[in-house]
Amino acid sequence: MAASLGYPALLHAIIDSTDDAVIGKNVDGIVTLWNRAAERIFGYSHAEMVGRLTAELVPAYKHDEESAVMARAIGGERVDNYETILLHKSGRPIEMSLTVSPILDDSGKLVGVSHIARDITERKAMNRQALHLSALVSSSDDAIASKDLNGIVLSWNDAAERMFGYTAAEIIGQSICLIIPADRRPEGENVLRSVRAGERVEHFDTIRRRKDGTLIPVSLTVSPIRTASGAVIGASKIVRDMSERSMMERETNRLAAIVDSSDDAIISTDLDDVIQTWNRAAERMFGHTSTEIVGRPIITIIPENRLQEEVDILAHIRSGLSMRLSDTVRCGKDGTLVPISLTVSPIRDRHGRVVGASTIARDLSALRVYATTLEQTVKERTAALETANTHLESFAYSVSHDLRAPLRGMQGLSHALLEDYGEQLDERGRDYAARIIREAAALDELIQDLLTYSRLTHIEVEMEDIGVAEVINSALHNLREDIRLSHAAIRVSGSLPNVRANRTMLIQVVTNLISNAVKFGGEHPAVVVVLEHDGDLARITVEDHGIGIAPQHQERIFRAFERLHGVESYPGTGMGLAIVRKAIERQGGRVGVQSEEGQGSRFWIELPRSVAAA
Ligand code: ADP
Repeated sequence: MAASLGYPALLHAIIDSTDDAVIGKNVDGIVTLWNRAAERIFGYSHAEMVGRLTAELVPAYKHDEESAVMARAIGGERVDNYETILLHKSGRPIEMSLTVSPILDDSGKLVGVSHIARDITERKAMNRQALHLSALVSSSDDAIASKDLNGIVLSWNDAAERMFGYTAAEIIGQSICLIIPADRRPEGENVLRSVRAGERVEHFDTIRRRKDGTLIPVSLTVSPIRTASGAVIGASKIVRDMSERSMMERETNRLAAIVDSSDDAIISTDLDDVIQTWNRAAERMFGHTSTEIVGRPIITIIPENRLQEEVDILAHIRSGLSMRLSDTVRCGKDGTLVPISLTVSPIRDRHGRVVGASTIARDLSALRVYATTLEQTVKERTAALETANTHLESFAYSVSHDLRAPLRGMQGLSHALLEDYGEQLDERGRDYAARIIREAAALDELIQDLLTYSRLTHIEVEMEDIGVAEVINSALHNLREDIRLSHAAIRVSGSLPNVRANRTMLIQVVTNLISNAVKFGGEHPAVVVVLEHDGDLARITVEDHGIGIAPQHQERIFRAFERLHGVESYPGTGMGLAIVRKAIERQGGRVGVQSEEGQGSRFWIELPRSVAAA
């Protein structure tokens, strides 16, 4: 076909079939030629580009460079393989290699400039990857080599040079047999056979020979190298030195890496207290670099008033003991004090002799900040809780207050019903009315208790000197009906001088305690009220020999509405002890119970004695 084309047509056909962009411009830089590859590479069609300048192909920061190259071509020079970056229509940068040449007419006059541009983005990326890989290979601690299928060495990294003593120049092109001891040759052959078959040999333990003839134990991993089409053309070999020394070195490196990555400062000292090692965390915590401080005494970082600590630590270490200080300080380089906790342990040599000390120090500053924040949060929450409690109590107060009016109405009406119309009711009707009266009385008691309890939060507590005997008499007077009905015997033992308290509250407290002792005191309750004092404290104990309270309930009965028994057998509201506790606390005292199930209980309260009496 080509033969039938004219010369210019043939040229066009060639230009359109190449993979490189071919661009022609006249001396003013206007595009005159734009081939298929240019359309594909830059995304602009022939129609879009011909007759125009190419400014949009060149990134702004490359304009000057581009003009300089253009000027050289116009000056008659050919610029070869000039690497630059041009832009695709979408704005994507393309890495390119350009050859820019002047175009001359038959008379040798310059008529334009041609650009042949090759997209090298992929090649560049591969180059970068190759550089990366070769850096990785040469920095490896393992020997890495490659060989062809005849066992001829093709590459040889730095670690291989160190491990076997041959330089890359000496061994590349030679047979790998150089490092295989004679008696291991058959084994080498086997490995090559596996590789030829496309198999990988992993962690194969064997012996290899160094240039100086010494033998080293190694572990080999050999993998086939393939072409893009998959054909095996050689093998890569990773060799790990398994000699004891090299394993120890690796272990040491591993340990050093752990020490260096620790967040705790790890410091070692000898028995003269001279610093031997100092990890990164120690650098961060105290500000001295390892170079600055290794060789200097540990007291460099100990504040003067803490020197005794080091004396104690050293004494412990010399006797082979560890020591822990959970809260101390050390000096930073700039003089700031760093709060730390530390553990110092003896370092021993192979024979077990103590040769130094290792110190692990943890910076407590962050912990302190955390603790302060936590404390603050707890304070805020407690305050919020108290406010919420106060709201709840004032709510309970107003609700119970408002409940009383309709309740009074109900009580009045049911009494009237029974008294005025009782005769017109039958037996059943009278029983219902009587039950309404009883239930209303129970409700009234509950409301009364709730009011008392919530009032305790709000009222001013006025304290005065009070005679305890008088308080007990008032309480017994309040309870005379209960005492009579239950045939209870009440005895008071001991005596007390005046106490400092609120009269109404104290009478209420003692009434509640004696009332419970009578109620839960068994068939013929025998209650003893014991009065004693100890220094500035007055103590009133109410003892019964009744049903008692199991230990697991002794705390909760002081909470509102907590009851251990059914209302049928022991009527009550569950508010009595809650009132006792709150009233006593508001007077600055304490309350508690000792009890054994089936044996009886002793409820006690403690209050300050009056100043006058003391
Ligand atoms: P209540 O109105 O039920 O007596 P309290 O708050 O006074 O309410 O008491 C709470 C609960 O504690 C009672 O229901 C009872 O189970 C128990 N309790 C109180 N005092 C005694 C006591 N002296 N012996 C045994 N149990 C008691």
